[in-house]
Amino acid sequence: MFNRRRFLAAGSALGAGHCFGQALPDMLPASGGRRVVIVGGGWGGLSAARHLRRLAPELEVVLVDRDTAFRSLPLSNKWLVDRTPDALMQQDYAAAARAWGYRAIQAEVTALDRERRRLHTAQGALGYDWLILAAGIRHDYSPWLGDDVRAIDAVRRLYPAGFLAGELDALKRKLAGFKGGDLLMSVPPPPLRCPPAPYERAVMIAWMLKARAIKGRLVLVDAGGGMQRFNRIFAERYKDQILHLTHATVKAIDPFKKTLSTEFDELKFDDAIIIPPQQAADLVWQSGLIETDAAGKPSGWAGVDPRHLHAVGDERVFLVGDLLGRVSPLFGHYPKSAHMAVQLGRIAAAEIAARSRGNLPEPALPESVCHVFTDVEPMEMLRIDAQYRRRGDGLITQMVRQHEDPQPRGEDVAWAQGLSTEMLARD
Ligand SMILES: Cc1cc2nc3c(=O)[nH]c(=O)nc-3n(C[C@H](O)[C@H](O)[C@H](O)COP(=O)(O)OP(=O)(O)OC[C@H]3O[C@@H](n4cnc5c(N)ncnc54)[C@H](O)[C@@H]3O)c2cc1C
Repeated sequence: MFNRRRFLAAGSALGAGHCFGQALPDMLPASGGRRVVIVGGGWGGLSAARHLRRLAPELEVVLVDRDTAFRSLPLSNKWLVDRTPDALMQQDYAAAARAWGYRAIQAEVTALDRERRRLHTAQGALGYDWLILAAGIRHDYSPWLGDDVRAIDAVRRLYPAGFLAGELDALKRKLAGFKGGDLLMSVPPPPLRCPPAPYERAVMIAWMLKARAIKGRLVLVDAGGGMQRFNRIFAERYKDQILHLTHATVKAIDPFKKTLSTEFDELKFDDAIIIPPQQAADLVWQSGLIETDAAGKPSGWAGVDPRHLHAVGDERVFLVGDLLGRVSPLFGHYPKSAHMAVQLGRIAAAEIAARSRGNLPEPALPESVCHVFTDVEPMEMLRIDAQYRRRGDGLITQMVRQHEDPQPRGEDVAWAQGLSTEMLARD
């Protein structure tokens, strides 16, 4: 539900509400007109940093993330049930920064002063000449929990979604300790990152229940109708492990009584993985960069110029990765995938490299590839490719193809290893 008060509160952090007059110490010397700061060291930000160094070695590149190490969400569903090596899941930013010649700073960015081109962090301020926002998503619990801070905190703590890198360890511990009963997992309405990911995870959990002979089932409370391929697999191979409730709109959750209500049912659960609706990360709201419709209603996602990837109304701020809003009236959002984030990072880097030399580059279009596992023993995979083209009237069109692969040969790991080598300078 649109909560105008909440939206204005978030937006005002950058406007009159935020005190930019405070004299914060500078974290780095003056930029000399050639500094690019990237906020967010996910696949999008890492790609932007890597490609900027390649395309414009004369620019100073600074990557800021609240964490010291990168954590992979791709492959994480397999990792949760011990089907992917730990080594692929995490790597320090410092090694990548050294290898490619940029600076990595660990800091939480708390505000963005676009007028003065400065970021605020707890350690000080950071000036930029161009900024790339690649801060990912945030969870929006308000449609299910309203403004109940205590309940939101309990859901975050007790029932982590595993859709943010920081939530993965807690979710893995939860699954390892699951002894039986009803484990509930919600699938929120779109847009969400990697839309097949909840279904892939459902298969992994169902397989785990079977393989470990746990007397329990996964109750999938799905806002949509699921995906055809997965629906068949749930019904044919995991009918004792998965109860799939489709078109189930969540109305409320009580984390203390362990209940979830939909339009039709009140479900009791023994444990849960609550994946709530998603929105662009906090910083996009604080920066006043959320797109709104004609009535002023926020979409929840960053308003982007789909030709050049800069923020609407600010050609010094580029947007990369899952936080992007609509790019075409024909299909809406680009898929929120790591592959797409990497491509958008490269395009934003090329834009800034050209602009720093006084040129405007030809607009480029990305593509997306996503590997999703549809079963475990034996492994089966679905590869989803999306391609883009600009129509005569300038609108972007999307073509999506799905390929079923009954005998995958480690393409997902090869894909992740390729990206790790290119972005994280991993051997
Ligand atoms: C379970 C799961 C499986 C997936 N599988 C696949 C797959 O197989 N293939 C695929 O292509 N995609 C997959 N994805 C999607 C993919 O993970 C995302 O699309 C990708 O991570 C988006 O990258 P990003 O750079 O936009 O954001 P993120 O990876 O979320 O990175 C954002 C970064 O910004 C930092 N940050 C945010 N705010 C601040 C701040 N204020 N100050 C400092 N730092 C900040 C965060 O710490 C984080 O490191 C999967 C996702 C999930 C959840």
